[in-house]
Amino acid sequence: MKIHEYQAKEILAKYGVAVPKGEMANTLEEAIEVTRLLFAEGASGVVVKAQIHAGGRGKGGGVKVAKTREDAELHAKNILGMQLVTHQTGPAGQKVQRLLVEETAAIDRELYLGIVLDRATGKLVFMASQAGGMEIEEVAAKDPNAIIKEHILPGFGLRSFQAREIAFRLGLEARYISGAVKFMMALARAAEDTDASLVEINPFITTTDGRLFALDAKMNFDDNALSRHPDILELRDISEEDPLEVEASKYNLNYIKLDGNVGCMVNGAGLAMATMDIIQYAGGMPANFLDVGGGANEEQVTHAFEILLSDQNVKAVLINIFGGILRVDTLANGIVSAARKTKFQLPIVLRLEGTNVEQGRKTLQESGLKFIVAQTMKDAAEKVVAAAKGVQ
Ligand code: GDP
Ligand code: MN
Repeated sequence: MKIHEYQAKEILAKYGVAVPKGEMANTLEEAIEVTRLLFAEGASGVVVKAQIHAGGRGKGGGVKVAKTREDAELHAKNILGMQLVTHQTGPAGQKVQRLLVEETAAIDRELYLGIVLDRATGKLVFMASQAGGMEIEEVAAKDPNAIIKEHILPGFGLRSFQAREIAFRLGLEARYISGAVKFMMALARAAEDTDASLVEINPFITTTDGRLFALDAKMNFDDNALSRHPDILELRDISEEDPLEVEASKYNLNYIKLDGNVGCMVNGAGLAMATMDIIQYAGGMPANFLDVGGGANEEQVTHAFEILLSDQNVKAVLINIFGGILRVDTLANGIVSAARKTKFQLPIVLRLEGTNVEQGRKTLQESGLKFIVAQTMKDAAEKVVAAAKGVQ
């Protein structure tokens, strides 16, 4: 699960991570009021920041610094409601519904700090780099040695000697070291306590007057751990998520929307991955990943099918099911009832095997609906790609 920058900063501040003074604003009036307060409290400038679940906002025009209240109001007016396009939003962009207005800081250096789960070692890894403000993927590609890494022993947090090691390797001046050590240990504590899968401070800054701040903050959480963090679950902003994915999550379907035009309905993540591969191998592009799960019932199958068909890009559907715990006849009932409800016109290719396959095929034949039956996965992929090409 993703959250907004302002929410991440609120969580981090509770752990003692220094963040600039500021407030979230839902409306222009609120943004004006926050600006007024910040200037009244002595700020020399403010930064107006779009709150969307994507990075790269600065380059896309979603982060603007203002020296006066008038300029801040102008920026807030422009950013609020804009369709912000960044390299992470896709070409359609994301509508800005909230702002964060913060006091600006006199930046000396921009550094990078991040914590992610390292699957190879099963531990969180703390990463730091002198190249702040840049995308870390770029740094990693050009000069992997420029990324400092320390693994966090589960339950022990980032140890002070590790934090000091990172602080020195970042080339921080002596006056920043003890503050940076506290900052990084607090960050690691927050990551571990909240079951975060990612914490990223980019940039982590030093100021000309000797202070340290998280100028930006990003936190993602492990969905499987959210049951033990009801307070974090409340921060979920469904309006930032893909509507079809939100719909799918209501029915416990593992659905990820993709850019192609071949809709896929598959059971089991492994088979779903293999299905996407073979569609590409046949010259097509999957419109989604959809794993209906091993134990899906008729209702889930019906909803899954409706979600698939409500994606305007889908030109043909491949249903690739190996009936194990999910029996093929259950699936067939779901498909028929969904097909009747949605009155679909698109070609549907079926590749069915496994438990109760004969009964399932019979249900489909007797439904009077038209399906293209395939024998093997390769056959199914070729048929569905051809069918998708034939539909405008
Ligand atoms: P992102 O583009 O989505 O990662 O958003 P950031 O919060 O990282 O902002 C992008 C860039 O705007 C930062 O790398 C900074 O260079 C700049 N920026 C953000 N806040 C301030 C600020 O308070 N003062 C100044 N001078 N620059 C800022
Ligand atoms: Mn950033």
